[in-house]
Amino acid sequence: MKSLPYFCRGEVIRGFGRGSKELGIPTANFPDSVVEHLPADISTGIYYGWACVDNGDIYKMVMSIGWNPYYKNTKKSMETHVIHTFKEDFYGQILSVVMVGYIRPERSYDSLEALIAAINNDIEEAKAKLELPEHLKLREDNFFTTAPSTSSTAPAATTPTSQTIMNGH
Ligand code: ADP
Ligand code: MG
Repeated sequence: MKSLPYFCRGEVIRGFGRGSKELGIPTANFPDSVVEHLPADISTGIYYGWACVDNGDIYKMVMSIGWNPYYKNTKKSMETHVIHTFKEDFYGQILSVVMVGYIRPERSYDSLEALIAAINNDIEEAKAKLELPEHLKLREDNFFTTAPSTSSTAPAATTPTSQTIMNGH
């Protein structure tokens, strides 16, 4: 995928309450405006990369890009699981991510246990791959140190720059 690494950021919105958190794998959802900017060559499936909330620490993440059942599968969704235990939810805050690599396509599972096992495999793969020097380098990208917070004067999630953030540098 020529668009990788792909940088983007946006406000964390409420998802469709599929209970990811109850499975122990909460996923922070991006608004449609961020999803609609995805380049055409970014296909659905599972990605790994780096993420930070507002100006917080940078953590490893796994992201699922898929078809949003709420909109009868006509709209894509982007859901990020940050590999870190947060004390509180961060709805309304700004999530900045860089998608670094692709793990696998989407698929359906026969049981919840099988789904959870697959996600845990994805998390282990993400953790290992991100230790590669070329991937560790992206963690240091200026993109993360310039992350706007919700308390900044400009409403970051609604300014065009925050959703179309520079790719390819
Ligand atoms: P929703 O359907 O609203 O997306 P989830 O059960 O997927 O609900 O929970 C997602 C929310 O959990 C995120 O929007 C965020 O505020 C919070 N959260 C807490 N820890 C994490 C984490 N490690 N990764 C992603 N989101 C997290
Ligand atoms: Mg979610």
